[in-house]
Amino acid sequence: MKQDRVTIYRAAAIRDAQGANARPGAVAVKHGRVVASGHPDSLSKRLLKNAVFIDRPSELILPSLVNAHAHLDLSTLGPSPYGGDFTAWLREVVRRRPSEPKRIIEAVRQGLRLSRAAGVGHLGDIAGSMAAVMGRRQAPREAVIPGVSYLECFGLGGRQASSIAQVQRALSDLPFETRIDFHDRGAVLGLGPHAPYSTGLDIYKAANRLSQERIFRLTTHMAETVEELRFVREADGPFAELLKELGKWDDGITPAGQHPVEWLEPVLKHARWVLAHCNYIEDEHIDILQRTGSSVVYCPVASEYFGHVDHRYRDMIDAGVNVCLGTDSILCQPADEPQPFGVLPQMRRLYRRDQTEPGLLLKMATTHGMQALEFSENNATLQKRAPAIFAAVKIDPDERLDPLVQALLNDHPVTPIDATRDGGRCDD
Ligand SMILES: [Zn+2]
Repeated sequence: MKQDRVTIYRAAAIRDAQGANARPGAVAVKHGRVVASGHPDSLSKRLLKNAVFIDRPSELILPSLVNAHAHLDLSTLGPSPYGGDFTAWLREVVRRRPSEPKRIIEAVRQGLRLSRAAGVGHLGDIAGSMAAVMGRRQAPREAVIPGVSYLECFGLGGRQASSIAQVQRALSDLPFETRIDFHDRGAVLGLGPHAPYSTGLDIYKAANRLSQERIFRLTTHMAETVEELRFVREADGPFAELLKELGKWDDGITPAGQHPVEWLEPVLKHARWVLAHCNYIEDEHIDILQRTGSSVVYCPVASEYFGHVDHRYRDMIDAGVNVCLGTDSILCQPADEPQPFGVLPQMRRLYRRDQTEPGLLLKMATTHGMQALEFSENNATLQKRAPAIFAAVKIDPDERLDPLVQALLNDHPVTPIDATRDGGRCDD
């Protein structure tokens, strides 16, 4: 019977972050979900009996990957060189970013397409507007990627009350459910107060309150630049200049005398937050991240693009902080990168630069990302009941080197496999 059909992908190797590791490997799919994975000989006779086989003899099959921090609504801007001045860069992004709903939706769709093509199966996206949220929510089925749309908000000093009111209005206008634990193919809603240099503590506290009322996920940019550290500590420097220039300065903006992580600790301890970047972090801040159960999204390519070095992701992981991977916006990706929203290029950067253990990189790219986005980790594995969305990478089956190491050392793009719709349908 058609509905009982099993499709078995036989590959040079399979690997996930929860123990699937076989060479050669096989993944059996039924009704769009994994029913078994392992060495081809380990699959039961019952599964093999009526199976359709799809052979990928020169590929490593991984689960689909998780990009926990992207800005889809900037996708149409394309990669752009960085001139070395962060506030000048921000001014340029504000000037160039699409502002008409139609253009925003176009950018979001382009970002979704590029993400799917790069084997991204779950995505945390910073939506700079309601149009960006809706652009993702109403994407055609073939472009949908489950995950979180974080609606971004801003406001400092005396402007915070009106920002909060605006967010509340926007949220009540959103014509879709907010209490969803796992919406199979769609995105759930989150809130993204922008960053400590653009958003005051009242907004962060309001985000906590709203998230408790309506189960929104929460994210913010954190400790991204030294200029941000200076702004929070002393309320001056390049960010103060920028706010004055934009007419967004007021006397309610005062020095906190603290590092942004210390400043935000009272908020972090009351909800689960996903903090993007954390480029400038000392031991005591890592302790706060661990104590508050915060997740960190590290975007290695974007971080290097801005000239940040010595990210402490391994110290954070050793201390018990959940660290996952993101791309940030397309602007920060190399112009010659064929998969600018890909997570594999992020893993490759870390493997080649830091020789980070491949198994840890795979966790950061899959299960850690799911933990940050608050979805079932199993959905980014090759374990039973995981959705049948995979990321395949070409390797040399005759090469002795570990298949995952090969994938980290070669430059082959990811080929997505989407077998969620039937016994097994291949995307490429
Ligand atoms: Zn960002």
